[in-house]
Amino acid sequence: MAPAGLLRCHNWFMSVTTAEARVDLGAISNNVDLLREQAGGAGVMAVVKADGYGHGIVPAARAAVAGGASWLGVATLDEAMTVRRAGLDTPAMCWLYTPGERFDDAIAAGVDLSATSVGQVAEITQAAARVGRQVRLHLKVDTGLSRSGATPADWPSVVDAALRAQADGLASVVGLWSHFACADEPGHPSIAAQLRVFDETIEVAEKAGVRPEVCHIANSAATLTLPEARYDLVRPGIAVYGLDPIPSLGLTRRLGLRPAMTLAARVAVAKRVGAGEGVSYGHRYVTSAETTLGLVPIGYADGVPRHGTNLLQVWAAGKRRRIAGTVCMDQFVIDVGDDGIQAGDEVVLFGPGDGGEPTAQDWAEMLGTISYEIVTRIGARIPRTYGGDTQ
Ligand SMILES: *Cc1c(COP(=O)(O)O)cnc(C)c1O
Repeated sequence: MAPAGLLRCHNWFMSVTTAEARVDLGAISNNVDLLREQAGGAGVMAVVKADGYGHGIVPAARAAVAGGASWLGVATLDEAMTVRRAGLDTPAMCWLYTPGERFDDAIAAGVDLSATSVGQVAEITQAAARVGRQVRLHLKVDTGLSRSGATPADWPSVVDAALRAQADGLASVVGLWSHFACADEPGHPSIAAQLRVFDETIEVAEKAGVRPEVCHIANSAATLTLPEARYDLVRPGIAVYGLDPIPSLGLTRRLGLRPAMTLAARVAVAKRVGAGEGVSYGHRYVTSAETTLGLVPIGYADGVPRHGTNLLQVWAAGKRRRIAGTVCMDQFVIDVGDDGIQAGDEVVLFGPGDGGEPTAQDWAEMLGTISYEIVTRIGARIPRTYGGDTQ
């Protein structure tokens, strides 16, 4: 029998080996539960694209389903297949592809597919014919984001093509959907305008004979702020991971949502140096007095942006500390002054913020970006470790 210590060595509560992203699956599942309450009677499609916003697509999807997500949303066919191969048979929808992609496996695996043009309807239904299985289609209308989706002008022809495929037994039109441009700016005039176009295009589709199971348009921001945008299904992504789509309003915190990711590393080297020493590439930081430097073994290849040079804060030796000098590919340095730090000590780069550590939102603000970019960029070299009880 293995000693208890060995069995526990992958437990996320233990100190990290080098660097790791600890994911609190209980937070994900609880966040989904809270979003479900927020959504009233609408279902929740938890968006798990981009490796579950960097948290790990399969564990994130499982935790979301445990929290009551009745759908999963992914961008790519690969992501859809990753979810299915992991044994998750929750309804799932996929929405981003280029001409010539192979839809066969996704259709065979019962993944719902978005279609935005007559050409896409044709390609997808040809695949359905090959596979010998009816494909469930969600027709996407561009209500004002000008990304994918049929323009209102093209909408009737896309609806018509889909209904013909349905009559041929190749497709079933189950969803009508769209996506907001400015839902994170409550009161932005485009929001009401997009809802108006969405309602009009739903009416066009219904008059043509579509009987959708679900109409959906709301991302996290709309789920939190726009009851009239819920329709049958909401599609939160960032809020599932406990991060705020509209940080200025602080709604996620008020609702009790909790950031699920903590990025931590252990000091690789600690040493005393004298005053006037240049630190890291380019000597962009120079010690002002004799001090202790700590080397943190995680860098821009791992998602610590090089723009964080002399800027980003991390939690080390009981305080927030600014990164000292240039962020390198694999490492950066912190200056802890006369506070004690040793090789092996833990540094928390960001987390939920409970212990005084910065949050991903804090990092985003320091860097002039959004928390989405912080968590999705944590690289493949950083192991994700999992803890927290899902519901
Ligand atoms: C990413 C994405 C979402 C989720 O957006 P959040 O702002 O993270 O909630 C919803 N729908 C579509 C189409 C998306 O691409």
